[in-house]
Amino acid sequence: MKSMEKIVSLCKRRGYLFQSSEIYGGIQGFWDYGPLGVELKRNLKDAWWHDMISGHNELVKPESAPTAFEMVGLDSTIIMHPQVWKCSGHYDLFHDHMVDCRESKKRYRFDQIRGRWVEYQDKKVFVTTMAEAEQELDEVRRRGMKFFRLRNKDADKISVGDESLTLDKLDSTENVLAPDAKNLDTLTEPREFNLMFKTTLGALGGEDDTTFLRPETAQGIFVNFKNVLDSSRVGLPFGIGQIGKSFRNEITPRNFTFRSREFEQMEIEFFCHPDQSQQWYRYWRDRRLAWYKALGLSDESLIMREHHQEELAHYSVGTADIEYAFPFLPEGEYGELEGIAHRGDFDLRSHMEGKLDPSTRPMQVELGEDGKPKYRGSGRDLSYRDEATNEKFVPHVVEPSAGADRGALAFLCEAYTEDEAPDENGKLQSRTVMKLHPRLAPIKAAVFPLVKKDGMPEVAHEIYGELKRHMNVFYDEKGAVGRRYRRQDEAGTPYCITVDTDTLTDRTVTIRDRDTLEQTRVKIDDVVADLQTRING
Ligand code: ATP
Repeated sequence: MKSMEKIVSLCKRRGYLFQSSEIYGGIQGFWDYGPLGVELKRNLKDAWWHDMISGHNELVKPESAPTAFEMVGLDSTIIMHPQVWKCSGHYDLFHDHMVDCRESKKRYRFDQIRGRWVEYQDKKVFVTTMAEAEQELDEVRRRGMKFFRLRNKDADKISVGDESLTLDKLDSTENVLAPDAKNLDTLTEPREFNLMFKTTLGALGGEDDTTFLRPETAQGIFVNFKNVLDSSRVGLPFGIGQIGKSFRNEITPRNFTFRSREFEQMEIEFFCHPDQSQQWYRYWRDRRLAWYKALGLSDESLIMREHHQEELAHYSVGTADIEYAFPFLPEGEYGELEGIAHRGDFDLRSHMEGKLDPSTRPMQVELGEDGKPKYRGSGRDLSYRDEATNEKFVPHVVEPSAGADRGALAFLCEAYTEDEAPDENGKLQSRTVMKLHPRLAPIKAAVFPLVKKDGMPEVAHEIYGELKRHMNVFYDEKGAVGRRYRRQDEAGTPYCITVDTDTLTDRTVTIRDRDTLEQTRVKIDDVVADLQTRING
């Protein structure tokens, strides 16, 4: 059975993910990727970069696209001019406003984009660290909740007293927090939290030196729109992609890496003519969903959720979320992996004119003395002139915005499988196997000499050395070969290459497939090409 507890434990045991600063008790909302995790996340980002940006062929029109198009990349800074965040709306609007209901004790946050209060508290909480468990207990006390139920009774790591929670040793435990009342009427005064991390430039640190760690990579693309246009000969329609860290001071980071305070985004801003923007929106929505499926997320666990009209930002004519059935969510619920938004000309216009119309915004925008929004744009002309028609316009934008950490987590959850495989004597043994797509797998192949003698290690070294030039491979000569296979199954390694007695006479090896368990004999000279075909298709 797939459970979040087992996945978290495997992640730690095998070096996929560690709690940040663990030896000091950890820091909430921050995660470190271990030796396997770093490879997985890098492979995911490389796949995205290749499939969306560097491997894109602008000469061929994809079947479902309105026209052929170009894609280029960018790497902008994390700290930007403070005015960027004022014009983008983040300075005024990227706040969490929270209220508590006095009766039900439920907590609500104001969703700026949707313009309404949404229940803040997740119904089901996955606790992975001591600090998180303690925070949940505080929440239970604060809300005066009647019950705090352990879903996984076997875990026996939390004992629930009247209002106490004793933690002996905590790797992971799944809890269901259930509020006891449903009345939503009486709400406390809103309290405000800015989600942007502040920092100070230079030594003096006056008010003017305050700036922010970016909460999204997108703005770096918008402010470079003109630079890219002028320097790279691209013309509309085209997209600019960027991968990089973003930071949000989330009030309740939780559910493993799903909601972190430091995370990585993979974002595209696709610029097009307003008349074609609806078609491009549909194109990107469908293409992004297909991408996750091609890398192994199953149809049953993925949904595309189109936002209702009332959920849409005022400038958006369409937004869809690609959501995944993470095991920490209740049955039938999904968590966002990526949002694809039609953003109209809102962002480019904001950076041109500082156009923030308070009447269309749910929260108050600070006005200047002239009654207009205080934060003016750059004053630069960010419009586009079509050379063929001479038409001048501000392009519309379609934004597929994905999280690399949520993606990596979804692929880990999907990959976790328990099945049975025969051991050396043909007896079925249960095994845990991470069925990661070969492109994403941290280690592509493991090389084993069957025994540590008769010249087998020397041949295995030779193969290992050759493969290392092309991909990440692992060498192991310790213990029974069956156990070595098991270790690689758990690490998600798709292929194991074994040097045996036959190798010494005919220079062939066996390649074992992790998922089908099929073993094929391949000439040593063909191993690299064989693996490359298996991995990249
Ligand atoms: P949520 O509603 O879950 O807070 P969001 O709608 O605010 O997410 P966006 O601003 O659209 O998210 O960001 C785009 C993507 O960045 C998300 O789909 C997600 O994959 C990722 N992301 C956003 N916030 C976080 C976070 N705190 N931790 C990890 N990934 C995140």
